[in-house]
Amino acid sequence: MPADDVDLLVIGAGSGGVRAARIAASHGARVTIAEEYRVGGTCVIRGCVPKKLLVYASRFSLDFEEAGGFGWMLHAPTFDWPTLIANKDKEIARLEAAFVATLTNAGVALAKSRAVFEDPHTIRLVARDERVRAAHVLVATGSRPHPGRAIPGLEHVISSNEAFDLPELPRRVLVQGGSYIAVEFACIFAGLGAKVTLVYRGDNILRGFDDDVRVHLREEMEKRGIHVITGTTVTAVEKVKAHFVAHLSGGTSVTVDKVMFALGRPPNVDGLGLDAAGVNLAETGGIMVDEYSQTSVPHIYAVGDVTNRVNLTPVAIREGHAFADTVFGGKPTRVDHRNVPTAVFSEPEVGMVGLTEAQARAQVGRVDIYKTMFRPLKATLSGRDTTILLKLVVDGATDRVLGCHIVAPDAGEMIQLMGIAVKMGATKADLDATIAVHPTASEELVTMRTASKRHGREAAE
Ligand SMILES: Cc1cc2nc3c(=O)[nH]c(=O)nc-3n(C[C@H](O)[C@H](O)[C@H](O)COP(=O)(O)OP(=O)(O)OC[C@H]3O[C@@H](n4cnc5c(N)ncnc54)[C@H](O)[C@@H]3O)c2cc1C
Repeated sequence: MPADDVDLLVIGAGSGGVRAARIAASHGARVTIAEEYRVGGTCVIRGCVPKKLLVYASRFSLDFEEAGGFGWMLHAPTFDWPTLIANKDKEIARLEAAFVATLTNAGVALAKSRAVFEDPHTIRLVARDERVRAAHVLVATGSRPHPGRAIPGLEHVISSNEAFDLPELPRRVLVQGGSYIAVEFACIFAGLGAKVTLVYRGDNILRGFDDDVRVHLREEMEKRGIHVITGTTVTAVEKVKAHFVAHLSGGTSVTVDKVMFALGRPPNVDGLGLDAAGVNLAETGGIMVDEYSQTSVPHIYAVGDVTNRVNLTPVAIREGHAFADTVFGGKPTRVDHRNVPTAVFSEPEVGMVGLTEAQARAQVGRVDIYKTMFRPLKATLSGRDTTILLKLVVDGATDRVLGCHIVAPDAGEMIQLMGIAVKMGATKADLDATIAVHPTASEELVTMRTASKRHGREAAE
C-alpha cells in the first residue's frame, strides 16, 4: 500500500474545516486543507459577517428617525452604498488574511484548489493537477444557494452571494423566500431605503420558528413598509429596459430593480466524487454521518452544512473541533445538537432557543406558556410604532424551561444568555428567583408571573 502524504486532508476552508484543520494540527497531525474559493468560507466571505455589517448599516435609518424625539435634529442624512461595500470588502479581506495566518501558524498546508475524491484515500487537487493520499479525509464543503426551479427569466435573479457585491443599492427589490436569509435581506434593503416586497409560497415567514414569533415579526416588518405576500411564488422575471417585472402566481406583477431568491441552501455534494469514495448521502441530501461525524467510510468524516444537520456557523465549528479531538486527540467527542440558540438579524431581531409552543405540545403532556408584549421604553419618546414579544415555553409537570422566543432589539444578544440557562435545565422557578435588571426589556423574562396559556392541564389534573 502506498504511504500517506498527509494524516488529514480537509476539503473546504470554511467554519468547520478551518477549526478541524487547526485542532488536528495541534494534536500533531500532518494536515492539508483545500479551498476552491476564499479562506473563511461562507460565514466570513458571504454569510454571517458581511451580512451583520449590512444589518448595522441598515439600522442607522431607524436611529436617525428616532433621534428627533430625544432632541437630536438631523438634516436629511444621505447613504452611500459604494462606501459601505468598499469598507465591508476591506474588513472581509482582513479576516481572510487572519484565517490564512491562523492556519499557517498552526502548521496546516493550504492548497488553493478544488478537491475531489478519486478513490477513498486519493484526492485530486484540480487546480494543481496533483494527487494527495490521505489517511483521513474531512469533507467540510458547506452549502450553496438554491437556484430556484426553472422559470422564465431565472438568469436575471440574484442570490445572497451577489447581493453582497451589487454595484449600487436597488431602489426597489423583490426577495423571494421565507427563511432567515430572505427575511434579513428584506430588512437590510428596507432599512437602507429601498421599497421591498417579500414573496413566500408558505402561509407565513420563518417556518420552524414559534408561530407567535412568525406573526409578530411579519407585523413589525409590515409596519416598516415591507410588503409581505404569502401563499405566492414568482413565476417569471421579465427584463423591461433597466428594470425587472416579477410575475406572481396570483396573476399580479411587481416592477423592481433587483430580484433576489433565498430559497434554502442544499449541501455542496455535487461533483465531489463521493461515489468514488463510497460515501453515502442521507435522505436530507447531506452526507450521512453518525454522532461523531463519521461517514459510511470509516476514515472519512463530514461536518457543517454539507451534513445538513443544524446549518449554523457555531455548530460547524463545534463539529469540526469534536472531529479533531475524536480522531487525533484521543478524546471521542459528540456534539449535542439540542437547544442550539439562534438569531435572525431582522428588524427587530429574533432570538430563539429550545422548543416552540407547537413542538412542546407534541412532546410534553403539560405545557405552560408565559408571554408578554409591550412597547419598548425607547419608543415612548421616539414615537416609533413597535412592540416587543417575549415568550417562555415551560414543562407544566417539571417546571423546566423548554423554550424561549424573543422579538426585540438585541434579541440575538439576549438569547445567547438565555441559551445557557435553558441548556443548564433552568426551571421557571429559577427565572423567578433571578432579580431583574431595570430598566431593560429582558427583565420581563424573570418577572412574568402568570401563565397566559396552559395546555393539557385539564386532562392531566
Ligand atoms: C447570507 C448568509 C447569512 C448567514 N448568517 C448566519 C448567521 O448569522 N449565523 C450563523 O450561525 N450562520 C449563518 N449562516 C450560515 C453559515 O454561514 C454556515 O452555516 C457556515 O458557514 C457553515 O460552515 P461550513 O464549514 O459547513 O461551510 P462553509 O463555511 O460554507 O465552507 C465551505 C467551504 O468549502 C469550499 N468548497 C466547497 N467545495 C469544495 C471543493 N470541492 N474543494 C475545495 N473547496 C471547496 C467552499 O468554497 C467554502 O469556502 C449564513 C449563511 C448565509 C449564506
